[in-house]
Amino acid sequence: MKKVSILIPCYNEENSLPLLYPELQKVMQQNKNYDWEILFINDGSRDNTLQNLKQLRASDSRINYLDLSRNFGKENAMLAGFDYVTGDCVIIMDADLQHPPMTIIDMLKKWEEGYEDIYARRLTRGKEPILRKWLSLTFYKILQKSTKIEILPNVGDFRLLDRRCIESLKRMRESERYTKGMFCWIGYKKTFVEFEQGERQAGTSSWNFRSLLGLAIEGIISFTTFPLRFATLIGFIISFIALIYMAYVIIKTIIWGDPVAGFPTLLSVILFLGGGQFIAIGIIGEYIARIFHETKNRPVYIAREYNDMLI
Ligand code: UDP
Ligand code: MG
Repeated sequence: MKKVSILIPCYNEENSLPLLYPELQKVMQQNKNYDWEILFINDGSRDNTLQNLKQLRASDSRINYLDLSRNFGKENAMLAGFDYVTGDCVIIMDADLQHPPMTIIDMLKKWEEGYEDIYARRLTRGKEPILRKWLSLTFYKILQKSTKIEILPNVGDFRLLDRRCIESLKRMRESERYTKGMFCWIGYKKTFVEFEQGERQAGTSSWNFRSLLGLAIEGIISFTTFPLRFATLIGFIISFIALIYMAYVIIKTIIWGDPVAGFPTLLSVILFLGGGQFIAIGIIGEYIARIFHETKNRPVYIAREYNDMLI
């Protein structure tokens, strides 16, 4: 019998779990031709998530949990999940019921057809501030323009991955993780199912504007070196303009002589170039910071406990 794992990263989800589990149970009931595993990753929750998970495991042996030593963030928690998951395929989903569990059944159908990476595409983005929506779409446009790999908008982490995909993802152990890009990067036979994103059922979203902006910058910097090229390009353009201007000044001086003038022009040009240089240095700095983090070669997460066993 094929084994299907459901991977759910949880951060402060004590109120979502009692709602989520019965829904998952329904799905498992309807599909008894599979072995099921639900792997919860407790990503350093500050509430009773861990106690809840322990209780769930006591009542249902298909439930496993991994407790991380602190909050490492969803991206890292997902890698922890890839390491510990045992199924022939894995479905990644959120704990807050924004990802309707019934979609899993559609995904499994596609998996049986031979697809290896089945992502769920949101039909609507749910309730969301207009500015955030616009920024998000703009971000995808920029990211798409700057990389050859197709990165899909309106697609989150809700997806089914074949064991082969998981093994590939496990080999990508960088600490600055942009998993959504990695799913695209690894390739494999992809298809999609559609779903209607619900509202968060309990608890609060742990993303705020700042962390989303952070993730967006992470996405671009960790996935492309396009900003570096952009800085170079701007440098060339400015140098070219400066060269023409220089020629103009020289010729002007030779023909008409030079009444000293143009101090404001000089100042504004210097300031403009100075600003540009700071931006370029900043961009380079972003990459150097990542090299710095990556060379430390620290583990991406630290696990404390797996099903009552201390690690
Ligand atoms: N999550 C996590 N670690 C974190 C933040 C979030 O494991 O540091 C989990 C969270 O418990 C949920 C999923 O990631 O299952 C998505 O989080 P959330 O619902 O807050 O994000 P949103 O739906 O607003 O994008
Ligand atoms: Mg959510």
